[in-house]
Amino acid sequence: MTITNFQTLVLAAPLKKPMGGISHSGPVYSRKTALIQVMTDEGLVGLGESFGIPELVPPIVQHVFRPLLIGQDALDTEGLWDRMYRGLGYHGQKGLLVEVLSGIDIALWDLRGKAVGQPIYKLLGETHRTTLPAYAAGMYFSQVDNLRAEARSYVEQSFSAVKLKIGVGNKVPDEVAVRTVRETVGPDVRVMADLNCGYDYEKALEAGKKLEPYDLHWLEEPVPPEYLEDYHRLRQTLTMKIAGGEAEYTRWGFKAMFEKEAVDVAQPDLMRCGGLTEGRRIAQLAAEYGVPVSTHAWLSIVGMVASLHYGAACPLFESFEFEMTENPLRDDITVQKLRAERSQVKVFEGPGLGLDLIDEQVARYLVMKG
Ligand SMILES: [Mg+2]
Repeated sequence: MTITNFQTLVLAAPLKKPMGGISHSGPVYSRKTALIQVMTDEGLVGLGESFGIPELVPPIVQHVFRPLLIGQDALDTEGLWDRMYRGLGYHGQKGLLVEVLSGIDIALWDLRGKAVGQPIYKLLGETHRTTLPAYAAGMYFSQVDNLRAEARSYVEQSFSAVKLKIGVGNKVPDEVAVRTVRETVGPDVRVMADLNCGYDYEKALEAGKKLEPYDLHWLEEPVPPEYLEDYHRLRQTLTMKIAGGEAEYTRWGFKAMFEKEAVDVAQPDLMRCGGLTEGRRIAQLAAEYGVPVSTHAWLSIVGMVASLHYGAACPLFESFEFEMTENPLRDDITVQKLRAERSQVKVFEGPGLGLDLIDEQVARYLVMKG
């Protein structure tokens, strides 16, 4: 089966209610993504998603990766990963180019599954689980009353773990936000807090110390990903776990994190770290270092479902991030829907990702095609 063409669909879905901010970043008014389709001579089409800045993904697919992949065997997933990565040469082993590579790699795995009529997770190696423990992620910067209502809604939906955003730019002090959520969900629900790289070491240490009485399960991305030594120091000093990795790339990036003993929980994002091919290597590496994986996924249902297949095959797995805030790109664009029941999500069983796009819905949100 030969690769014949590529198409990137840039989607933007306006939100009814703007989403609150995170550290260093204001409210979000629409959810955006870039879906990548890989076409073949047998008529099968693979679907993937890239974390890359959506409007920049189509030209990168066309000018960087298309020339490397046209005419190649679509089922040679690992070989094509090497061809793409080595093809980047001196242009970048991290960043936007690897994010686009990631989206293409996911589409190639979707193709591979469709070609043999199997869900991706069965092709990734040993299946460790077909139902994944999930946590509800949301609670962006907002007023205390809204935080309380949102936390309550997750408990009512039977989530046993929830995550809120804290950090720079939040009008509600970190301690007040965490206390509000802890008091709302009670002692038996796990609470995690995400700083989105908002602080430096001193501020993260001060914030972490203030949050210790609230039994946080983890503190996420306390400082920017470059400062692995600071992650390590925070891990040694604070009582809660330290999580990170959503902004990291490839096995080499994660190896450095593990070598430095920087995190208790690793959070690869498949749309960024190098797709499923590289994600699988990262999962093996994490297991070797004894670091559990919790997937990061934020964009559309495509990447979230890729993360489900991945989680099924992760040897050492902690949880699936279920981003719960308003997101038409999660809820509206495919026939299949993502649901959590009692804090568990079932892996999809259809061939490939197991997703069928609804063309009219895709057309509704389409802002660029390339
Ligand atoms: Mg995060």
